[in-house]
Amino acid sequence: MNDADQDSESEIGTDFIREIVREDLAAGRYDGLVTRFPPEPNGYLHIGHAKSICLNFGIAEEFGGRCNLRFDDTNPAREEQAFIEAIKEDVTWLGFDWGEHLHFASDYFEQLYLWAEGLIEAGKAYVDDLPVDEMRAYRGSLTEAGRNSPYRDREIGENLDLFRRMRAGEFPDGARVLRAKIDMASGNMNLRDPVLYRILHAEHPRTGTEWCIYPNYDFAHGQSDAIEEVTHSLCTLEFADHRPLYEWLLESIGTAIGTGARPKQYEFSRLNLSHAALSKRRLTQLVAEGCVDGWDDPRMPTISGLRRRGVPAAAVRDFISRLAITRSDGVVEMAMLEHCIREQLNQVAPRRMAVLRPLKVVIENYPDDKSELLVAQNHPGNPDMGTREVPFSRELYVERDDFMEDPPRKFFRLGPGREVRLRYAYFITCKEVIKDAGGEVVELRCTYDPETKGGNAPDGRKVKGTIHWVSAAHAVAAEVRLYENLFNSEEPPGGDEFLADLNPGSLEILPRVWLEPGLAEVTPGQTVQFERLGYFCRDLGASAVFNRTLGLRDSWAKIKSKA
Ligand code: ATP
Ligand code: MG
Repeated sequence: MNDADQDSESEIGTDFIREIVREDLAAGRYDGLVTRFPPEPNGYLHIGHAKSICLNFGIAEEFGGRCNLRFDDTNPAREEQAFIEAIKEDVTWLGFDWGEHLHFASDYFEQLYLWAEGLIEAGKAYVDDLPVDEMRAYRGSLTEAGRNSPYRDREIGENLDLFRRMRAGEFPDGARVLRAKIDMASGNMNLRDPVLYRILHAEHPRTGTEWCIYPNYDFAHGQSDAIEEVTHSLCTLEFADHRPLYEWLLESIGTAIGTGARPKQYEFSRLNLSHAALSKRRLTQLVAEGCVDGWDDPRMPTISGLRRRGVPAAAVRDFISRLAITRSDGVVEMAMLEHCIREQLNQVAPRRMAVLRPLKVVIENYPDDKSELLVAQNHPGNPDMGTREVPFSRELYVERDDFMEDPPRKFFRLGPGREVRLRYAYFITCKEVIKDAGGEVVELRCTYDPETKGGNAPDGRKVKGTIHWVSAAHAVAAEVRLYENLFNSEEPPGGDEFLADLNPGSLEILPRVWLEPGLAEVTPGQTVQFERLGYFCRDLGASAVFNRTLGLRDSWAKIKSKA
C-alpha cells in the first residue's frame, strides 16, 4: 500500500503506535510516557527525519508525556559539533521543544562501560581477537549457521582484564572487540554474538580523548533509552531485526524503569519521497562532490534546504500528518509535499509583483514626467492582509511570454492591436512592436486608457487578459533562482549510479529580474507570492536573491485521482 493512502488515520490519532501508547497508559504499564528522537550527528536532518520527529514529539504532546532529543554520538569518526548545532536548529524550527531533555549517548559512556563489565562478569560477553574478515567468515550467512570464535570461551577474568586494557588504550584500532555471547546459530544475524564495543583512537566532539573504545549503536541505544526512562522507543523498520538484541541486552543487564517495566521498541515505515534521495550517506555525497551548494541548498530534501527554499514549518508538519504510520514501506509523491506547501503559502504569502523575463513597455500617451501610486491588494482572498501602493509610470516591464506577435486564438494577453488589463492599473493597447537588428522583440509601444484606472472600464468594455508589471523607473533588481527536482527519476537508482540521475536543469539562475520596490523590504527567509508566477523566498544568505519555493500549478489532485 502506498504510504500516503491512509490520510485520515494519523489525523485522528489512531495509527497502530498511538493505539499501543493509549493502551499502555490506560493499563498503567508505565508511570508516564517518554519518547525520544535519536539522531546520529553525522549529517543534517532530512524530511524523512521530520516524520520521526513529528511522531515522537507529537505523541509526547498528545499524551502529556515528554520527548527527549538524544544524540546518538557513538561514532566519533563521522560526527561533528556543527551537525549537532544544525540538528538542534532544525528540530526547533519544526516547532518542537525538548525542554531540559537534551541528551547525548556519550553522557552515558561510563555507565555503559560498567554495564559491559557486568555482562562479562555474568559470562554474557567476551573479548574477541579475530581479525575483521575472519569474524565475518565465522558469522555465516542467512542460509548457513555461524561458527563460534576460538576466543569465545575465554575465562571471565581474562575477558575483564583484556576489556580494561582495551579501555586503557593498550591496543590499536581493530585489534579486539567486545562481543555479546548469544547464539552463533541464531536465525537472526543480529544475535550471532554481536559486537558491543570496538577500539577507536579518535577524538570525540564531546568526550575528547577520554575514550578509545566506543559502544556501537545496539549497545548504546536501548541502554540510553533505559537511563532516560523512555517508554516507547520508536524507530524505522530496518531496526526490526535489532529488536531481539535490544530486548536481550535490557534483560541481560537487568535495566528497568519506573514501575519495573522496560522500554520497548516499535518500528514504523520510513518516509521515502519520489524524485529525492533520503539517506544521509547520499546527501553527504552530494555535498562532498559539489553537486549542490551545501546541505541547505534549496534543492536538498534536508530541513535546512526546505527552510532556505521558503517552505513554512507548518507545511512540513501538515505533510507529515497526512502520512500513514504503518509497518509497510512505500514511496510518497513529491507532489503531495508540494501540495501541502502551496496550501500553506496560499494562505499566508502576501502577493507582490515581479517580472522575471522582462520586456519593456512604453505607454506613449502617459506623460514623461509623471508617476502615480496605485492601490494593490496584498491578498485578494483575504482583505485583512490590507493593501499597498505600487508606482506606475510611462515605462514598464511586463513578462516576455505575456506578449505574442502572432497569438493563437486562445491567447488573451498582449499582441499587436490587443487590449489587456495591467493588474491594479489600467487597460493598455499594443500599438507597435519594436525589434532589434536580429529580429527580436525589444519593446512594445502602447497606449493606456486613463478612464480604466483600477482595472475597470466605465463603458463596461471587457478585456480577457490581466497581466502583471512593474514600473521601470521604480523597480529594484534582484537575482532569482528557479529550482526543479534534483533527480530525473521518480526513484533514483541505488549505488553510485544515483549521481548519473541528477537533473542538469535543477537550477536556473535569472541574474536580473525586476521587482516592485516594496520587495526590497522583504526580510531574509520571508516568502511572498509573485503574482501569476509562484512563491518566492528571500534567500537567507545572499541579499537581493529570491529562491523560487514553487510555481503555482498543483499536480497533486491529478495524481491522487489517478491512484
Ligand atoms: P539515513 O537512513 O538517512 O542515513 P539514519 O537513520 O542513519 O538516516 P539517524 O540519525 O540514525 O539517521 O536517524 C534518527 C532517527 O530518524 C532514527 O530513529 C530513524 O529511524 C529516523 N529516520 C531516519 N530516516 C527516516 C525516514 N526516511 N523516515 C522516517 N524516519 C527516519
Ligand atoms: Mg541510522
